[in-house]
Amino acid sequence: MANVRLEDIKRRFNNVTAIEDITFEIPDGEFWVLVGPSGCGKSTILRTIAGLETATSGKLFIGDRLVNNIPARQRDVAMVFQNYALYPHMSVAQNIGFGLQMRKVDRKIIQERVMNVARSLSLDHLLDRKPKQLSGGQQQRVALGRAIAREPQVFLLDEPLSNLDAQLRDDTRAELKQLHQELGITTIYVTHDQVEAMTLADKIVVLNRGRIQQIGDPQTIYASPANQMVATFLGSPPMNILPAIYHNNGFDVSGQLLTIPAVVKEKLQLRQEHSYDLGIRPEHIFINERPSGFTVAYNAGSPNRQEENESQLIVEVKVVEPLGRETLIRAGLPGSAVVLNIQVGADVRPRPGDRLSLQLDLNHLFVFDPKTGDRIL
Ligand code: ATP
Repeated sequence: MANVRLEDIKRRFNNVTAIEDITFEIPDGEFWVLVGPSGCGKSTILRTIAGLETATSGKLFIGDRLVNNIPARQRDVAMVFQNYALYPHMSVAQNIGFGLQMRKVDRKIIQERVMNVARSLSLDHLLDRKPKQLSGGQQQRVALGRAIAREPQVFLLDEPLSNLDAQLRDDTRAELKQLHQELGITTIYVTHDQVEAMTLADKIVVLNRGRIQQIGDPQTIYASPANQMVATFLGSPPMNILPAIYHNNGFDVSGQLLTIPAVVKEKLQLRQEHSYDLGIRPEHIFINERPSGFTVAYNAGSPNRQEENESQLIVEVKVVEPLGRETLIRAGLPGSAVVLNIQVGADVRPRPGDRLSLQLDLNHLFVFDPKTGDRIL
């Protein structure tokens, strides 16, 4: 096992800078997830660590060893791709043991290790099958098994679950997490799936356009995103963004005035008549029972009622999606194209066309600079 350290790594392809300023250190045994939209540079970072790409500049360490000029096969890392290429003519056992056989490991030891790995991945009853006799999920587990059997210092996983259907993806994700808990091998996992990132990671690295936006544990990144990109990338449904103009006593959101508490105003250096983007997560919006009434809201855990009237927004319901455990409402601000996602209890079922009075939990309000996306509050 080993820690992995990247110091100011940059990779250019001709005129395109795929990644730059990439600096982080993954402690030995941790599970880190690189996440971000398509083209943000996730795979390039992973491939650089694997030795499949060469950094244009910067330093890369695995353990204490500078590996910039060390070939991939000598880095002691194992990589699993989205398209797990198994050897079709070999059995599951031979596929899992292949890396060991190449290293001329003793036959008995190979057999033993293959059996152990197969057991931990529930593949032990399939050892004699050929890949084409397996389901997609089983094939992917064999690819993982092949990587695990090599007992690498570092695991590199590039969207390993994206070819699996939803149920299998959930199951395999849980297995991966358990496997990591058992083996404790330093793991770097690339995905654009924020649920995988949130559930698997010790630390998440959020990337955009080749640069790191934020590094942190999932809960911190969710609760305290560094900027608008991070805020809207993590969370499903995503954080609502409301364009607003600041006036003396609050925010004008499409003609409706949202008054903000004095303590918040004091914290912010807001400019009069200036544009801001307000951010509020779907679970931090509550429905008032009657518009403009000081009544109990539908949701448990509603914010302090005192300022209810001052922070309400009137919206018109567009779509209601009952999701079993909860209801997701999409509602528009009258006279504007802004649509809000609102997450409420399963028993709340307004109809399309209904007008609702919304209460925003101002303790969870974010304010962004619309030009830079920087977070102000
Ligand atoms: P995805 O989620 O779509 O796989 P990614 O975040 O993994 O994307 P990369 O594959 O790392 O992104 O690509 C980062 C940037 O580098 C992209 O703009 C891509 O077009 C560019 N790029 C990657 N490989 C090459 C290459 N071999 N030649 C030229 N440009 C490349």
